[in-house]
Amino acid sequence: MRLLRALLLPSLFPTLLLSLPAQATEVSHEEDLPPAVPVTATADTAAAEPAPDTAAPAAVTVPAPLAEVSPTPAAFSLLGSEIAAGQFRTLFWSPGQSFASIDTPVPVLVARGQKPGPVLCLTAALHGDELNGIEMVRRLMYQLNPRSMNGTVIGVPIVNLDGFRRGSRYLADRRDLNRYFPGNPRGSAADRIAHSLFQQVITPHCQFLVDLHTGSLKRTNLPQIRGDLSHEPVFDFSRHFGGITVLHGGGAKGTLRRAAVDAGIPTVTLEAGGPNELIESAVDGGVKALETLLQNLNIQPTMRFWGAPQPVFYHSDWVRADQGGILMSAVTLGATVKEGEILGRVVDPVSNTGSDIVAPFAGRVIGMAANQVVQTGFAAYHIGVQKAAEEVQQDARNVPVTDSAPAPTLAPADEEAAPAAGECDENC
Ligand SMILES: [Zn+2]
Repeated sequence: MRLLRALLLPSLFPTLLLSLPAQATEVSHEEDLPPAVPVTATADTAAAEPAPDTAAPAAVTVPAPLAEVSPTPAAFSLLGSEIAAGQFRTLFWSPGQSFASIDTPVPVLVARGQKPGPVLCLTAALHGDELNGIEMVRRLMYQLNPRSMNGTVIGVPIVNLDGFRRGSRYLADRRDLNRYFPGNPRGSAADRIAHSLFQQVITPHCQFLVDLHTGSLKRTNLPQIRGDLSHEPVFDFSRHFGGITVLHGGGAKGTLRRAAVDAGIPTVTLEAGGPNELIESAVDGGVKALETLLQNLNIQPTMRFWGAPQPVFYHSDWVRADQGGILMSAVTLGATVKEGEILGRVVDPVSNTGSDIVAPFAGRVIGMAANQVVQTGFAAYHIGVQKAAEEVQQDARNVPVTDSAPAPTLAPADEEAAPAAGECDENC
């Protein structure tokens, strides 16, 4: 009997898998396959169909239709250079904010496939201290094979090169670049840099955009997608990243993603980890989601599979400290918590008085602060409750995008709603 089952199961599996709803991604038990081997050396063979004859079920690629993806035009010109089909190039974008003799152009990587397809853009380190995204762009760009892929991928690994050099989130003038899009050619330095990137790279080329971030100010996030789910093209786009966490957030005014969506480019942010650190699990989780996106946009197949193929949509809320003092956590990132469970404790170091921070509802810790000194009202834990995608979308539609904090009933899943003004933004 056991033998019979063993013989039957493999042949049944593909049939079952193919009947899955058209969403994204593929299915396998091999959640933790090692990173895909860079394909540049093995050229045409490496980018063939996903391995069909492993013990795991075959990959099922069913990209949901994304609106109006026009093929890459015959001539593709970026930053003054013509990119031929099948080429990988390193170009340079110059924001032109310094005097010419010390101006440092920002590298822009571009891989143009031999065959037509969509143009996907990746931007990282708009905040100069957010390192995980830089490594994600590197891993993704250097596994592309322009000779066999479709479409074009443009990666800007370190948008805020100046902040990156100083280990700072901000520009040299202390402004947050991610508050100045789409920019202004006659405004502040931040305005001009934003305008330059937006006009030279983003709007002329990108059909889809993923802006990579991390938590800010000593907070860390599970890998997660954030987008304005009330906007249908963004909602569709958010379902192309495999089994990753997805949250709704309108996007604060001036963020790259909001400006890009306003310009008609479906855009999400991908958050992973915290600032000033390189966390392998965060980087790998983000890269896996981006590899799945490449497959679902039919740019290049992935060799990695999700245990659960569908994205997991969450309502979420921040839990704050009710007193100032030293915060010490009792939970870890990703933990599942029960209602009333102690998340952490804040203690006044002088009076020795303390209070627990408890979970107001059951859910998962999708973001949290590191142990640190906190003020009263500090947003310490981001708790998510899993919901159906359509339910999250409907809730998002019920609350219009504003520039201030949404109504308290809406889960503050994003920069506007989370921690107090100035405390964090795109990425708590
Ligand atoms: Zn950021």
